[in-house]
Parts: sequence; structure tokens; C-alpha cells
Amino acid sequence: MIALLSPKYVVFALLAMSACATSVLAQEVSMPAMTLLVDETQAARRISFVREEIRVQPGALALAYPRWIPGEHGPTGPIEQFAALRIRSGNLTLPWTRDPDDIYTIHVEVPAGTNTLTVDFDALLENTISDHQVLLAWNTVVLYPRDIDKRTLMIEPSILLPPNWKQGSSLHVANQTGTRVKFAPVSLERLIDSPVLAGEFFRAMPLTSNWPAELDLTGDSQAAVDKADDAHAAALFGKLVDQDRAMFGFRHWQTLHLLVSQSEAVPFDGLEHEDSPYDAIGDAGLAKKDQLEKYGWPLLAHEQSHSWDGKYRRPAELYSKPNYQGPERTTLLWVYEGLNEYIGMLLATRSGFNDAAYMRDYLGVAAAGFAHEPGRASTALVDTATENWVLRSVTGGWRSLRRSQDYYDEGALIWLRADTIIREQSQGRRSLDDFLRTFFGQRDTEPIVVPYTREDVEAALSAICPFDWHTFFETRVYQVNDKPPTDGLEAAGWRLVYNATPNNEPFFGQATTAPDLYASHSIGIDVKKDGTIADVLPGTPAYDAGLGPQMTILAVDGRVYSADALNESIAHPRNGKISLIVRNFDSVESREIQYAGGVRYPHLERIPGTHDYLSEILEPQTYKEH
Ligand SMILES: [Zn+2]
Repeated sequence: MIALLSPKYVVFALLAMSACATSVLAQEVSMPAMTLLVDETQAARRISFVREEIRVQPGALALAYPRWIPGEHGPTGPIEQFAALRIRSGNLTLPWTRDPDDIYTIHVEVPAGTNTLTVDFDALLENTISDHQVLLAWNTVVLYPRDIDKRTLMIEPSILLPPNWKQGSSLHVANQTGTRVKFAPVSLERLIDSPVLAGEFFRAMPLTSNWPAELDLTGDSQAAVDKADDAHAAALFGKLVDQDRAMFGFRHWQTLHLLVSQSEAVPFDGLEHEDSPYDAIGDAGLAKKDQLEKYGWPLLAHEQSHSWDGKYRRPAELYSKPNYQGPERTTLLWVYEGLNEYIGMLLATRSGFNDAAYMRDYLGVAAAGFAHEPGRASTALVDTATENWVLRSVTGGWRSLRRSQDYYDEGALIWLRADTIIREQSQGRRSLDDFLRTFFGQRDTEPIVVPYTREDVEAALSAICPFDWHTFFETRVYQVNDKPPTDGLEAAGWRLVYNATPNNEPFFGQATTAPDLYASHSIGIDVKKDGTIADVLPGTPAYDAGLGPQMTILAVDGRVYSADALNESIAHPRNGKISLIVRNFDSVESREIQYAGGVRYPHLERIPGTHDYLSEILEPQTYKEH
């Protein structure tokens, strides 16, 4: 039987209004201007119910649903999941309208004599991980007075969980009755930066580290949380936090809550938060050594080091608005994400999630991708940061002409070059770690945001190592530069080579959408399991043969398509040719690839007689007092 669901909860007494508070630090403003209760008891059905009580004054009021989401770097607030809005003053239901110029804004006229509005709405589909777990991202369940300062609008949040569920977050629990958890008031900014991970199967694991930290994890079965430490994940996370300490020296939280969900329903996801980074990995992923290796740097190390690079320190242009309606500028993502990609590589390897050989393999693949990317002849790297959120969702092919979110991995290679410059110029006395400590560590603080500009980055680097950093970044990031960014690898003692040994690919991503066969460095295509061409690289034999993305290979040299059949033909082409039958829309056509180079995969190889900086960079570090 399906019943019409409605929220059932007690309305909180309102304490006071603080929307006009002038303090910069949210902690100094203690009285909530609104309460927010999220009923997650039906989370397994992919729906939650929200009730807010908002202190208001009579007259026109604009309420806003968050549009520009921190960490997503774009106008990605899921407005399509915001539904069934009802606004009341006492028993009086008020009419509302959506702003035709900004669909994230709701207008309502507050009647005379009204000082509190009750706002109910439903949040559809968004936060459910599986029938056993939910990740409550508060930006999906809040409608707030638009003309406020996110740092000073105080909110008293609560959550109602299904029976027997438990939760973890960096929010302070004020009191709990059954599965109704009331949190201490926080600013809107801190609320949106403090998701709640909850589940039927929940476990909090304190880490053995020199800084206070714990893993808050969920799974789809009791076994998944019981055996979460079978591959010694807790020890790895503890070493990770110790490597954070060795790198940054200072922290911006009291306790770090590492939120990790384990489910095949969401096998790869993550979002940074200043003291509660979130990662999603596959079912019982923490118990699997290969999963810890595969997700160590692109996810587990990466999201948590954003606490320093991205959260505590944030580009001023990405933190320019008092609310979440944007627009914000994203050109400095080559620092926020690109440097953090590099930091994640270092931390994941230094703490032992993966070994140096694994990291070198990835660096080879990344560098090879940029070495054969025709789009770089027309488009500067910074442009990929400027339009980042558009590039995030693009599929379908011709990636190398459009360029991708290159500010991540090309950014990492540029920061590797910066690291080797500091090491070379200082005869090994200094490294990029010194910059990381002064720029991102600074001093111990509460979770706050300290904005920076490009000039601040260059000045801080110059203070560690006098160098023309402005020209360094100008030529690599801001100007069109079709030279592959491999000089950092070479300065670190390694060069890009190609041989017949397959890579560890795919390093990350969902197995269902990732290509099954990577032949982009031989004939110039990647192919999915069913023979569909995922992408074609211009200027390669496959391109010259007239192939395009989304064509499907039906046969290879007279055999039904399989990855093995195509690989065999690439390895041993007959008379320098590979014959294909492909389907394109409703046509079936023959294609002939002229190729005799054998299978080729990118790898790194030591440059004899040079200093091996890369191995030093990836070595575990020891915390030093400064
Ligand atoms: Zn990131």
C-alpha cells in the first residue's frame, strides 16, 4: 500500500533574527534566523521532506535555492528536484511565483503582522545512495532569504532518520531523541559545507594519527561495515592524516571526519568539505586493497587535501558573492584543482595507498594524453578552467579537440615542474612542500575561508624560491601552448616512452561507462565493450580511415568484434592494414586502417644519469616543527 506522505515533526520555537548581523565569523553570531528540518524517513524511496521556519518582515521577500554549489564550481544546484513548495503564515497559505529571469529565486509577499513563515517542500531523488544509506547535502534542502550573507545567516538544522539508522558529520549534535537529531546552530555556509552521512549500517572508526580524525562509514550490509578494515584502510587513512601534517603543518578543524559510503549504487563520487570530505566507493570498497589503490589519489587523498587547497584557501574570484546564487569565476581552478591533483598524487603515494610505480604509470598516461591533443593548438589551458562545469558533463567524443577538464592533470604536471624548479634552484634544500605549508597551512584555525589571487600565489612561491613565476604560469596556463607539458617529468628524471605493456587503465571511473580497449596511442581509438567507438584521435590512422565516435565496430579482419580480436590485429596487422566493418546510424560500411606499429601504451622511463627527483617527491615525509 502506498500512502500519501507528509512531514511529521514538531516545529521549533524560533529564537531570534540575525540576518543583519555584521560579524565576519559565523561563530560570533549565535541566534538562528531559521530552523530547518529534513525528514529522511522515506530516503529509500528517493524522497525527503523539508520544513523551514524563517524569521521575516512584512513586504516583498525573495527566497533562493542554492545555484552555485561549492566544490562543483558551477550553477549545478538541482533545481529540478525542488518540488511541492508551500509557504504559509500561520494557517494562511501564501501564493508564490518563480522569478522568470532567475528560476532559482522564489518571490512571496509577506502579509502585515507576520514575523515567521513556514516553508515546506520536497527534495526528490537527490540524496539517496541506496535503500540503506543517504548523504544529506544541505544545499539540496534549503530555501533561504536571498539577500543575506552566507557567513552570518544562522540556521538550526535537524534530521529525522529511518528507525535504527545512525549518522556522522562534522555538525555538533545538540540533542537526539530516537532517530531525530538536532544539531547546534551554524551559519548557512558551514551548514552547506557539513553534509550528513547516515545509514542502517554505520560505523565510526577513530584513526591512529597525530591529528584527531575519524572515518564515518556506511555500507549496504552489516558485513560491509564490519570488514571495513580487512585491507587495513584505517591504518592507511591514519598515515594519510600524518602526511597531511608533514605537508601542511597546520589544520583548520578540530576533528577531521572522513565520510565514506560503500555501495555499488554509487561506486565513484566525492566532494570536498573543510572538515568532512565525502567519498563514495563500491560495495565493501574499504576492505579491498585494489579499490584502496585505485581510488587512493583521485578520490580519498584528493577530497581531503581540499581542506587546505580549495576550502581554507580559496580563489577570491570563486568566493566573491555573499550567497550561493553566483555567478562565480573559475579561472584559478588550475590552482584549486590542478595543484590539489598533484598534492593528492603525493599524499596517496607517501601514505601507501599506491606505490610509486603505480603513480608513474598514471603520470605517463596523463602526459601522453596531452602530447596528442590537437585542441591545445587553439585553446589555452585556462579556458578549460573557465568553462569547467560544462566540460564535466560532456560525453560523446572528439574530446581532444574540445579539450577536457585538463586543468586537473595538466595542472598537476605544471606543478611538478614548479616543484623541480624549487628543488633545482635551492640545491635540494627546499621544495613545493615549503610553499604548501606557508600558503595553505599558515596557522591553526577553525574552518574558515581565506581567499587568494593569482598574484598571491606567485608572491608566495617567490618567497620560497625567487623565480619569474608570472611568466612561468602565463606561458603554461594563460597562453595557447601546444607543447606537451612533459618538462616537469623530464626535470624529475623521467621521460615518456611507449611500449607494448598495457597500463593500469582505467585508473578510475565507472566500469560501465569507461572504454574497454585503449588503442588511442596505436591506431587512435578507444572502444567500449560492445564495439562502440568511444573516441577517435585526429591525425591518427583511425582518423585517416574515416572513423568517428559512436560508430560501432561489427567485425575486425573477418572476425566478429571483440577487444581481443582488435588487439590481435593491431599487434599483427596483415600487410600493414586492419579491415573493419562498422555500423554508423543505419549504414554498414567498410573501413581500412593503415597501421603497422603494433600495440603501444605510454609509460615513464628513467633518463640515465639524471637526478631522480620524482622518487624523492613521492617518498613519505616526516613532520618538522617550523
Ligand atoms: Zn577536487
